[in-house]
Amino acid sequence: MSHLMNTYGRQPIAFTHGKGVRLYDEAGREYLDAVAGVAVNTLGHGHPDLVQAIAAQAAELIHCSNLYRVLPQEKLSDRLAALSGMDEVFFCNSGCEANEAAIKLARLYGHQRGIELPGIIVMEHAFHGRTLATLSATGNRKVQAGFEPLTPGFYRVPFNDLAAIRSIAEHNRNVVAVLFEPVQGEGGIHPADAAFMRELRELCTQQQWLFMIDEVQSGIARTGTWFGFQHAGIEPDVMTLAKGLGSGVPIGACLARGPAAGVFKPGNHGSTFGGNPLACIAALTTLDVVERDDLRGNAARQGDLIRSGFRETLKDLAGVKDIRGVGMMTGIELDRPCGELVGLARDAGLLINVTADSTIRLVPPLVYTEADSRELVDRLSPIIRNFLAGQQLAA
Ligand SMILES: *Cc1c(COP(=O)(O)O)cnc(C)c1O
Repeated sequence: MSHLMNTYGRQPIAFTHGKGVRLYDEAGREYLDAVAGVAVNTLGHGHPDLVQAIAAQAAELIHCSNLYRVLPQEKLSDRLAALSGMDEVFFCNSGCEANEAAIKLARLYGHQRGIELPGIIVMEHAFHGRTLATLSATGNRKVQAGFEPLTPGFYRVPFNDLAAIRSIAEHNRNVVAVLFEPVQGEGGIHPADAAFMRELRELCTQQQWLFMIDEVQSGIARTGTWFGFQHAGIEPDVMTLAKGLGSGVPIGACLARGPAAGVFKPGNHGSTFGGNPLACIAALTTLDVVERDDLRGNAARQGDLIRSGFRETLKDLAGVKDIRGVGMMTGIELDRPCGELVGLARDAGLLINVTADSTIRLVPPLVYTEADSRELVDRLSPIIRNFLAGQQLAA
């Protein structure tokens, strides 16, 4: 009997090592990775710059506590502020923690303005994490069921629906913030409309609400810009980061700007591990390599290549409802549940993910070459084709 708590439906496979965009299992079989640890391994596996930087930092100092100044943390905050236009950064260890910080910040902002029971507007099909506040903000009953009572203080609206947000505002005077993803990842790779983001930005400014954007999955060049909000040419008041920031070393961040900056004071929030030297060096190295090797440009190019490739190879298939995404976030939505495809692809040496029941999610490392992108399209297309055909025969 396994001593692991039974929280995951795990696949029957274990990897021993990885190199670039390939992973290797115990039997030495090779897999092309289009999951990247769920949008985490920005630089792929075993990237020499990252390995060297982590090893050197581990020898110097791994952890020392936020009781003291932490130099790599200061450097990383400067770097993130310069890239994003944000003013200040709080470091934690994961996406849900980054969103917890954002939710606490919004509530404190409300209290400082005399609003006793502040409310935050969130979206249908959103995913913000699995802690109590973030699962309450999440728009998926499966994540919430069994964990009631939920954290109060969230208003839910359909995604990309400004009228619904205006209507909440008319009936509730306690709204202090809006929280959403620029591309809903877990929800099935649904990008926010640029016009929606711009109009929402204006509404937030008018109403003195904080515009809070969850870039945990979309941030760090994944969509072809440093952050997803940059596609809309706007600036958020709060942004959260995690997944791709440390290329696999756990680190999360909550960034604040303008009216959201200066809200937290000493004692309001904290994290024992948050922003430790090791994690910050991993993040600094990730940012350096993304910059040096133009992985933003590469994410945009490879993502376009992958989507146009699948549009071509799958164009005659009625079972394919939509192929969408931005940069290295691609969703292929089928007309039926397709979780089975994960195993079929794995047996063929391809690692993919399925989310929202019927959407194939491809979030590869940002270091894919054109040959890797072509290989993904060429090898996955027949598997999708056979799956759809086989299902028809069975029906
Ligand atoms: C994965 C994810 C989270 C949660 O991150 P964890 O590190 O698993 O806590 C939050 N928001 C979004 C958009 C995510 O994709």
